[in-house]
Parts: sequence; structure tokens; C-alpha cells
Amino acid sequence: MVQMRTVSVKGGLLLGRAVCYHALVITKNEAVTKMAELTQKSRSGFAAIVGRPNVGKSTLLNRILGEKIAITSQRPQTTRNKILGIKTQGLDQLVLLDTPGIHRQRAHLNRLMVQEALKTLQGVDCILLVTEVARGGSNEKQAVEPMPLVLHPADSYVLEQIQIQDAKAPVIVVINKIDRIKDRQLLLPLMAAWHDKGFSTIVPLSALKGDGIEDLLQEIMSLMPEGPHLYPEDMFTDQTERFLASELIREQVFEHCRQEIPYATAVEILEFRERPDRSAITIEAIIHMEKDSQKAILIGKGGATIKQLGMAARQEIGKVLGCTVHLQLTVHVEKDWSRFPVQRRKFGYE
Ligand code: GDP
Ligand code: MG
Repeated sequence: MVQMRTVSVKGGLLLGRAVCYHALVITKNEAVTKMAELTQKSRSGFAAIVGRPNVGKSTLLNRILGEKIAITSQRPQTTRNKILGIKTQGLDQLVLLDTPGIHRQRAHLNRLMVQEALKTLQGVDCILLVTEVARGGSNEKQAVEPMPLVLHPADSYVLEQIQIQDAKAPVIVVINKIDRIKDRQLLLPLMAAWHDKGFSTIVPLSALKGDGIEDLLQEIMSLMPEGPHLYPEDMFTDQTERFLASELIREQVFEHCRQEIPYATAVEILEFRERPDRSAITIEAIIHMEKDSQKAILIGKGGATIKQLGMAARQEIGKVLGCTVHLQLTVHVEKDWSRFPVQRRKFGYE
């Protein structure tokens, strides 16, 4: 794991476990017994979060951690890389892997993203297969009726892919977005449909509101092997602040631009300088587009779109990194970058 710096919300670097000295004197034997007890009782392991695009996988990761480390949007295929999040609860530690959505794909970049998700299934202790309550009406507030009695075809595809991978880890089915329905009874047919597919652990929840998260955590931890912490207890992601900043800029492209623009976007951080007292961070970034026409749309009339996008990104990065941010954005055309391995590698997608 290459780790330039771990992320802290309130600022300051979190590079290691805090060492705590105390006056309590215990004998060596007592210490050995105590350590054995501690190690025996603690559980730790990996859980992969997979599912079709847009069901709320990244929102779920952020909710479980209580920190924003993965970007989200109303549009599918927002997540492009595997994102690692660490949840430490006392002696237990859960390492979560958020992944790009699994779906049928032709384009190079999308195929790579799906492969990245499927690779994650190997070597984890538990798989969270995330799906959602279908939306009945045209907006979030409308209740969802009638409920689908069968699985969404895109879920069946995800299931097929998981089976092809022959992943050995137990699967928990997560039915997300239950805040969309008023009557929880409506969930029963959908839960029964998953049950008929051979899944016995099905957890309905709302990643957005937080309902059901504790139930899910209990289910996951019951599947984790016994073992000590895998990461320092104050670390909650392996991402660098630099990468996180680039993602938060990309998130704002999803917020401010429609159609293909977000999918043609790669963000490169040129400069990431912080004041010694970390009161402010200066970031210089390039937003790469694939075509001149996309560059024009991203900049907007008289630079209006890029200006708004930049302001929103600056605020969001400041919130997540816990300090003032000075952000300088430039838009550049890297012609058809997603089609070429060298360019994809340059932007961290190979
Ligand atoms: P991903 O592609 O699976 O990672 O999905 P995201 O986490 O990016 O979320 C996709 C969209 O669903 C975003 O607009 C989220 O705000 C929304 N969303 C996620 N969880 C919930 C939820 O529990 N309830 C509702 N109503 N929306 C949610
Ligand atoms: Mg995502």
C-alpha cells in the first residue's frame, strides 16, 4: 500500500497509533493473559461493497464511517476506483471496500471499473450486495408503489457476475433507500425474492438517513474472523488528501454538468501545498476533458459554470479536510484520454 498521508477531518496528520503510557503496574504474566484475551475477543476483516450503479454504495460507506471519503451523485458510475474505508469500534475493526457499479459494459474505462469491482470479491470476509427500493414516482418524495416482486434485471446481472467469480465469502443483501417507502410491509415481497435466490441475511436500510446501519454492522461483524486491528485505530482511509481533493472536484463536475461531461472528466492535482500550521491549503488542479466542445460546456458562458463549480469544490474540500482551501482550476483537453492506456494510467485508472 502506497501511503503518502492518511486523512484527518479536523486536520493534522494521522500517521500512527497514539501511544498511551499509564501508571498501572501489571506483572508480565498478567499482561500476557490480558493480551491473549484482547486478541481473542477482537474481530477484524474486510467487507466488499458491490452492486449495480447508483444504488448507494458510496453513500453507505460514508454513512458507516461517519466521514466523507467517497464521492456520490445522482448519476450512475460516479465511483471509478476501489475506495478503502476503516471503521474501528473498540477492539473490532472493519475494513470496507467501496467499488464501481457492476453493469454490462463496452467502453474501456467502464470495463476496467467493473473489473476493479469484481476483483475486490476475492479475499474478503464478507460481501455486501447492495440493491435499492425501486422508485415509483418521478421524485424522491413520492411513495414507491407497487413494489417489484422480482429482482431488478440489473441485480440479476450482478448476481451472475459474483457467481462467475466464484467468490467464497458470505453475502449480505442490503436493500437500500427504504426511506422512499412509507409502509415497510411493502419490502416483504422483495426480501422474499432475494431469499428465493438463496440469501438468508437481508438487511433493509437507508444509507442516506442512517436507519438500519447498526443492524448491518452487527451482521457484518458476526462474519468477521477473530484478530487484532489491521490498521492504526485513528486511520479511516488509505487515500491521500490529494486524491480526495481530486475526487471532490470530480464530484462537483457531476453536480454542475449534465450528459457526458462528468464521464469525460479526469482531475489531476498539480500542486497541493499546505501552510506549516495547516491553516490553509493551496490546490492547483487541471480538469481534463476529452473534446473541445466539452471544455466549452464545462467553462460555461463567460466562465460561469467553472466558477460556480470551483467555489462549490473549494467549500467541499475545506469541509472534508478541515481548513481553508485556495483552489485554482484550469480546464484542458486531453483528446479522448479514456481510450488510451497511457492516459488512463496517468489519471490513475489502470
Ligand atoms: P453508488 O453509485 O452505488 O455508489 O451510489 P451513490 O452512493 O453515489 O448514490 C447514488 C444516489 O442515491 C445519490 O443521489 C444518493 O444521494 C442516493 N442515495 C443513496 N442512499 C440513499 C438512501 O438511503 N435513500 C435515498 N432516498 N437516496 C439515497
Ligand atoms: Mg459509488
